[in-house]
Amino acid sequence: MNTKEEILKELEKLYPDARPALLYRTPYELLVAVVLSAQCTDERVNRVTAALFREHDTPEKMLSLSQEELEKYIYSCGFYHNKAKHILSASRDILERFGGKVPATLAELQTLAGVGRKTANVVYSVAFGGDAIAVDTHVFRVSNRLGLASGKTPEAVEEGLMKEIPQKDWSKAHHWLIWHGRRVCHSQKPDCVNCTLNGLCPFYEKTKSER
Ligand code: SF4
Repeated sequence: MNTKEEILKELEKLYPDARPALLYRTPYELLVAVVLSAQCTDERVNRVTAALFREHDTPEKMLSLSQEELEKYIYSCGFYHNKAKHILSASRDILERFGGKVPATLAELQTLAGVGRKTANVVYSVAFGGDAIAVDTHVFRVSNRLGLASGKTPEAVEEGLMKEIPQKDWSKAHHWLIWHGRRVCHSQKPDCVNCTLNGLCPFYEKTKSER
């Protein structure tokens, strides 16, 4: 077994039940929640969507809100102006081009206005069971530190991870890396001393003398 395989095995052992922390009931709700989750905690998104989805849980109902009204709901998630714009554009697109149903293919998801590659990947893998690795800030950082996939852009890291990880594990690996980033491999102060991956981690090897 090579180092990268050992890392993946350990991550799977650490997070066998890794799954998204965002609460949703339909692909549409997941899509909205993922848009809101950029630079925001899942806990806060869940609080906001609990109120928002009470009356606006479909593209039609979302579009009954003006940009300003939607901004009031989602204000606490940050970047509310752009997020509201993206949610409304995507809702309009879903209604006009896909009969009100979120499309189930990655290619179609990526054509939705206001939906970036990361959001499309998450919805494709989580809501539709497709194989995809969404690279968010945690996946990006942890993959680079562990040397699982090195790259300066999310696209480069996504490509690297897809080469290293068997396709059947892509979606699970996305969650393993997020959970490790949240629980241990923090952005500012990674808990390397207590990390069970430290013997396999190039970042730790490089920085341990500074500790
Ligand atoms: S050893 Fe440190 S840098 Fe490497 S994965 Fe663990 S916490 Fe992250």
